[in-house]
Amino acid sequence: MLDDKLKQFVLPNTQPIADLSCKDAFLNLTAKEKLYAHYFSKASWYGGLIALIQCSPESPAIFALLHKIFKNESLSDLKEKAVNSGSISDDEFTAFLVYACGFFANSGNYKGFGDSKIIPNLPKDKFQKILENSKVYNEDLQLQKVAKQILEQIFELNDNNETLGFSPNGVTTYWSSNCTKNDSEIVTEWMTSRQIEAYMSRTFKTIENEKQVYNIRIASVEKGTKDGITKPEEEFKKNIFRVTRGDYSKLLAKCVENLKLAKQYAANENQNLMIEHYIKCFTEGSLPDHKEGSRFWIKDKGPVIETYIGFIETYRDPAGARAEFEGFVAMVNKEMSSKFGKLVTLAEEFLKHLPWNEDFEKDSYLKPDFTSLDVLTFAGSGVPAGINIPNYDEIRQDEGFKNVSLGNVLSNINKKDPIPFLSEEDQALVKEYKVKSFEVQVGLHELLGHGSGKLFRVDEDGKFNFDIEHVKNPLNGEKITNWYVPGETYDTKFGSMGSSYEECRAEAVGLYLSLQKDVLKIFGFESEEEQEKIIYTNWMNLIWNGVGVALEMYNPQTKLWMQAHSQARYVIMKVLVEAGQDFITIIETEEGKNLLLTIDRTKINTVGKKAIYQFLLKLQVFKSTADIAAAKKMYDYYSEVNDSGPYPWAKWRNIILLHKKPRIILVQANTEINGENVDLITYDASHQGYIKSWVDRFPNSDIDDVLLDIWEENKKFF
Ligand code: ZN
Repeated sequence: MLDDKLKQFVLPNTQPIADLSCKDAFLNLTAKEKLYAHYFSKASWYGGLIALIQCSPESPAIFALLHKIFKNESLSDLKEKAVNSGSISDDEFTAFLVYACGFFANSGNYKGFGDSKIIPNLPKDKFQKILENSKVYNEDLQLQKVAKQILEQIFELNDNNETLGFSPNGVTTYWSSNCTKNDSEIVTEWMTSRQIEAYMSRTFKTIENEKQVYNIRIASVEKGTKDGITKPEEEFKKNIFRVTRGDYSKLLAKCVENLKLAKQYAANENQNLMIEHYIKCFTEGSLPDHKEGSRFWIKDKGPVIETYIGFIETYRDPAGARAEFEGFVAMVNKEMSSKFGKLVTLAEEFLKHLPWNEDFEKDSYLKPDFTSLDVLTFAGSGVPAGINIPNYDEIRQDEGFKNVSLGNVLSNINKKDPIPFLSEEDQALVKEYKVKSFEVQVGLHELLGHGSGKLFRVDEDGKFNFDIEHVKNPLNGEKITNWYVPGETYDTKFGSMGSSYEECRAEAVGLYLSLQKDVLKIFGFESEEEQEKIIYTNWMNLIWNGVGVALEMYNPQTKLWMQAHSQARYVIMKVLVEAGQDFITIIETEEGKNLLLTIDRTKINTVGKKAIYQFLLKLQVFKSTADIAAAKKMYDYYSEVNDSGPYPWAKWRNIILLHKKPRIILVQANTEINGENVDLITYDASHQGYIKSWVDRFPNSDIDDVLLDIWEENKKFF
């Protein structure tokens, strides 16, 4: 029996698996399109293995261990031997499978959503017994050695490794374990001064000749020096800085090999050039080529097959600037995309409803491509419901971006189980309208949330991108006194707070604009009654997330938030609770056991709207003016998890954990070349089916050896 604390770190045997179905969309593709999708998927899956290395020191080795076990014999044989050995129960074997599913789905042994460690839900000796009874374990002495080395790490839980983060409060592989937040500050300072962006890098510190040496390791296939990318060693504030290439070399080589094949089936010149630059980027380690590739990607409007690949999201670097690898391939859903197309056409009108004036908006609104996609492949640490990329400020601001809503992801909701903390009536309404209202929220969040607002900056020649004489700060009516200087980006300036702050801005835009009837009409909600239900469900769902789920992603020991979106929803909920006037009521219905959340729907358009208006304006002004001090003061204030007062969140967190539900794992299809054709291989939405999908995805063990080599080489830094 596990104690309550351990429960937070295991996945239950009831872990739900659902099918990320895309069959119809895939079958509609031409033979050439299928080949393009096939090779791009392979590039994504190989590159996606980098996320294992970025997760934790032991993750590449755990992958190799599990993959080799499952690849070498059927699950029924594995189970039979384990059970016949006399000591493994059915439940224990299921727990072993669930651990493997959770591990594969999160690209490592930390949750992709929430950053807390995942440990197996069975005793260590039983876990070991299953390994020992497997075929490969007995044949592969090397693997036995690896298993012995990582077994402790798989189960170990202590203050240093419960969650991702800087040592000593967490685990990260973006930094060697001897690096702390202080190291990150000096590294950021040096990199900013040299105008090196951190997206594709990691930093390992060593001591050489009594000096601290920071090695900035750039991801690339090639190793050795390269003008413009690596730099001669340099001393800065008594530390040595060194830039080297070749991180993840062998995995990127596999990724590039498949991108070259995909390129042969590109649909147009933009796709062709886009892939060419990605190949150059991953081969040489040149970030400018990823930016260049992203520029061609933006130009490739409304493709049949949509993709993106590279080091994209910076959520998991504790310093907020190093990005995790992800790659996806999806088919465009024409019907839903046409609704989004209308939203884009009218976007400039809708921007005017936002709380800031045009000075704070981009000089000309760059209409993005906005499509709804059915995902074939999403490799990385999790599958989001919507994306707004590229993340490079200068491209977003001046050239454009794309929005995607992942339709077959967001339609996967749990309709069976009760929704905690809501009345029966609210539960019924949320179940009925959640997918519909979520489509609206995701659309607005991505398009007008992440897509809105301007950053004030000065360039190297002292030229401002805004009228410094006339633009006024709407919060105090005074002139603008703060802006971004050359070398500064939003990510470097806002650092570890940046991701969540930006998600909060996007979520708040979504809430605010979902009140607009003309927006709702675009999504097909014509009647007053239906519109009212969508608005209520949207606000309810977001606030409910802030009340009933977000705190799972908060670590009371370190007082840190582990997930950007969760913190954002908690902050918005707190803003709305603070608005008072009985708009939101949260009470403890059973002491220490249950809560009830109610929202006065008649006050959404008054109390709620006004509170979000004021909050959103501050979020935007602080972001535009690079005012990190004001932003931090406000954001930290709302992010605080207090344990007293009418809403004792720290105490209520225990109630929330009692009711928590595992996130659904989505089983993804594989593709396989069959003569002239490409077959789509689908799997049962079960633990067994999910594991089989991973075995088929990597049909031989070369990849395990690559991962073990990387693990061996990196080990000494952690
Ligand atoms: Zn977002």
